[in-house]
Amino acid sequence: MALRPLLARYDQLLVDLDGCLWVGDEPVRGAADALAQLRADGKALSFLTNDVRSAPEELVRKLWRLGFQASLDEVVTAGAALQFTLAGRGTPGSAFVIGTLALVEHVASAGLRIANRTEFASRADVVVVGAHAGFDYAELRTAVQAVVRGAELIGLSRDPTYPMPDGPWPATGPLLAAVEAASGRRADRIIGKPEPALYEAARDRLGPGRCLAIGDRLDTDVAGARRAGIDQALVLTGATDAEQAAAADPAPTHVADSLAALVLA
Ligand SMILES: [Mg+2]
Repeated sequence: MALRPLLARYDQLLVDLDGCLWVGDEPVRGAADALAQLRADGKALSFLTNDVRSAPEELVRKLWRLGFQASLDEVVTAGAALQFTLAGRGTPGSAFVIGTLALVEHVASAGLRIANRTEFASRADVVVVGAHAGFDYAELRTAVQAVVRGAELIGLSRDPTYPMPDGPWPATGPLLAAVEAASGRRADRIIGKPEPALYEAARDRLGPGRCLAIGDRLDTDVAGARRAGIDQALVLTGATDAEQAAAADPAPTHVADSLAALVLA
């Protein structure tokens, strides 16, 4: 196997996970071969994901399990970018977290007290919202009361859904929208794509080089990379079909049926 000539323009690839390397628990056909060839040709890789359900360690295990070679420092999640952002705040304070245990641990690692399941939850200084399967009315009520009392509202992304084999599942966007609708406040900050935090974290780890971002969503992967000044490749194995890709304005730098079709000659 060999790489397509267009890859000669790039030293570093920022690769999305869901809808690009896998859908649910199914690897995308040819993606493992494509990634292996990129490594064989000396390309630097970084995996960027708005997925807030999994810790970076879990994503590394999933990558290996589905046939993709990867190391921990190559995985940049929205949770890791959140931790970096929170750690940079002057006063740590307390946080009420809607999200998985992995997300709670990122917030705690940034030095904030976790107010969940305490009498101070609705008086937290920061409310963090990320998708998780246990989302319920009680935590929505607590988050809304904290935000109305002045808490900083941070969303992990505005992704509406993520792709699963049985159809789309709700992602962070609709949960954040519920908090915003009830509190009458917009989020103060969004961490994931298309905002710059993930790209900045990845490029900080990779160092200088010519960069291509690859993903399956126009509103996050393509828009975020464009905003960050990075070339974009849209693959059609996830959230976007060929018709939507053709209608995109401005068009992505590259469009391909899959990661394999994008990179393999
Ligand atoms: Mg994706």
